[in-house]
Amino acid sequence: FNMHNEKLNGTEREFENALRPLTFSSFSGQDKVVENLKVFVTAARMRGESLDHTLLHGPPGLGKTTLSNIIANELGVGFKITSGPVLDKPGDLAGLLTSLEPNDVLFIDEIHRLSPIVEEYLYSAMEDYRIDIMIDKGPSARSVQIELNPFTLIGATTRSGLLTSPLRARFGINMHLEYYDMDTLTNIIIRSADILDVPCKTNAAHEIALRSRGTPRIANALLRRVRDFAQVKGSGNIDKEIATYALEALNIDKYGLDEVDNKILLIIIDKFKGGPVGISTIATALGEDGGTIEEVYEPFLIKEGFMKRTPRGREVTELAYKHLGRHKETEQGY
Ligand code: ADP
Repeated sequence: FNMHNEKLNGTEREFENALRPLTFSSFSGQDKVVENLKVFVTAARMRGESLDHTLLHGPPGLGKTTLSNIIANELGVGFKITSGPVLDKPGDLAGLLTSLEPNDVLFIDEIHRLSPIVEEYLYSAMEDYRIDIMIDKGPSARSVQIELNPFTLIGATTRSGLLTSPLRARFGINMHLEYYDMDTLTNIIIRSADILDVPCKTNAAHEIALRSRGTPRIANALLRRVRDFAQVKGSGNIDKEIATYALEALNIDKYGLDEVDNKILLIIIDKFKGGPVGISTIATALGEDGGTIEEVYEPFLIKEGFMKRTPRGREVTELAYKHLGRHKETEQGY
């Protein structure tokens, strides 16, 4: 059961696309971000210009792709989508850029994973709507300049800390997406159930929301699994009883923590007596990159009160001990 992973299979992707809101008004949450984007989009539209290049950062599944799609729709322009690791040759980027109509949106997911050479080409494209490409090899090699239509680059990243400063500096708009609160997630689940044509009670949606790690992608994936249980083991309708039954059968953590979250907490408890311990030490023990822990996992653990930052490092809280069924070692214990 793959909730947190960004690698989706075909059916999962289709399902995600079906549930993707297409307008600002059907997008719930991220109020501040949406409010600001609406102003910038309206202004760009009124001037008939392209929107400034926009960087969206935040953990996976919070709506970066969705918002980018909405921005293009609300601007009334075309939308092309690619990702950092896919664009490995400057030629790929040139092909995409030259195919853009005036003011189109080009979305680059995982923009922190662009190769340095492709990134270099992106600079002049973003700044002057122009690219220089080398044609031919050896003595006859020469560079030709290609003029581009004005466009908006929207970059999405879970790891804004990995962006180079020249790239970061070229984004006029820079926004951070936050984890969703339970009420907003509950509404998103109800909306998705409605699109899927499954009756779903509010308290059942809330039950699913509680275990969704503050993340719409996880909420939708859980809804899909609960729907299966409702169909096979229940009446087809999603009520609190069948939701609880399904979530238990699926062994979903009741706080919505995923495997890595739990591992991080366990390492701090079991290897470092609950902390304080530095991020890089946790990272080594976990075999994960420190920046990923800091930008993808830690914000949720802190927000939900499982971990705190202290001047001497990270510490787990009583709640973490309780949740994992561990007992805090006290001095007297020894
Ligand atoms: P990201 O690009 O940040 O990884 P996506 O935009 O792909 O996340 O969103 C993942 C899924 O969650 C999509 O199916 C999308 O429809 C849904 N989703 C994300 N944000 C919202 C929202 N605010 N309201 C409703 N659905 C959302």
